[in-house]
Amino acid sequence: MIYLDNAATTRIRPEVRAAMEPFLDYEYGNASSLHAAGRRARRALEDARDTCAAALGGDPKEIVFTSGATESNTLAIVGVAEALRGRADHLVTTAIEHPSVLETFARLEKQGWKVTRVPVDGAGLVDPARVAAAITPRTALVSVMTVNNEVGTLQPLAAIRKATPGVLFHTDAAQAVGKVPISIRDADLVTFSAHKMHGPKGVGGLWIRKGTAIAPQAVGGGQEFERRAGTENVAGAVGLATAMKLANPGRAEALRQRLSRGLGAPVAGSVDRRAPHILNVAFEGVDGEALILALDAAGVCISSGSACASGSTKPSHVLTAMGFPPDLVKSSVRFSLSMLTTDEDIDGALAVVPGVVERLRKISPVTR
Ligand code: PMP
Repeated sequence: MIYLDNAATTRIRPEVRAAMEPFLDYEYGNASSLHAAGRRARRALEDARDTCAAALGGDPKEIVFTSGATESNTLAIVGVAEALRGRADHLVTTAIEHPSVLETFARLEKQGWKVTRVPVDGAGLVDPARVAAAITPRTALVSVMTVNNEVGTLQPLAAIRKATPGVLFHTDAAQAVGKVPISIRDADLVTFSAHKMHGPKGVGGLWIRKGTAIAPQAVGGGQEFERRAGTENVAGAVGLATAMKLANPGRAEALRQRLSRGLGAPVAGSVDRRAPHILNVAFEGVDGEALILALDAAGVCISSGSACASGSTKPSHVLTAMGFPPDLVKSSVRFSLSMLTTDEDIDGALAVVPGVVERLRKISPVTR
């Protein structure tokens, strides 16, 4: 199998699994218990917190462990909105966020919040001036993702932050942490997730700048500095921390460029401002879903824009927001790499994809 769907999820690294194993076996204490087993679990949890904080350049007390990026996004957005209710009535985000952000804003909108969704240009980039223009004296939060999961564009966070002084800033960095340098100085809340960087599924974190008002969403226990109740996922946190410590983009950039050249198809999104691991290409005259299935049959795993959107026939909201015509949106697929992707994976894909594309063009001239 040639796995080029690492933006959907990655495999667990052996080192990560080895670090987690004791906590799935004999080290099963509850990190909140007073006895020795509990204290050992607590130590492992706090060591994991230290590692995550160090990787981001923050303080351990600013890290809240969650079940992943979806929950971190909810905690950041709803948590800030609830904390500032009465003092603020407006929120700003973009048209190309992950559904876990977009639908959270849609829910708050139904509850009476005003929401501005800033558009993107044809390269998939947000203009800081447009974000600044959206701000009102009653804006509670701006949320702009660091790296887009469908096309890989890297947003100008520092410039957006600079253009919106005094407003809380959240970034969904699920596709960025471990792939591109992250500067928490440019944000107040940062979302990250373990399974995007060779850690386990079902664990992630939210970095919350010290002093940021946030209402917990899960209550009923004092865990995670009273910001996220529930028995701590020690094995998960250890896995997340190990994955974060070991993460580096590796050769993804060089391999992506080679794949891109070899495929010879138009690439979506900015050429300069992008993460190393995501390549969204359009094969004109080919139905993207048909291509994904045909490549699957040939042992190559890729996807359309996002795992959540694939399986449905909804056209990508990201490519649509970038101004792609509907037929090109339908012809677009995503290849995504990781630090464990090899030269052989790329060779294998390049040996298979062009032939499959040609065959599909001949038998199903859908969009011509
Ligand atoms: N945000 C982005 C940008 C993502 O790519 C994903 C994963 N598709 C998520 C959030 C959701 O992450 P998780 O699976 O950890 O909830």
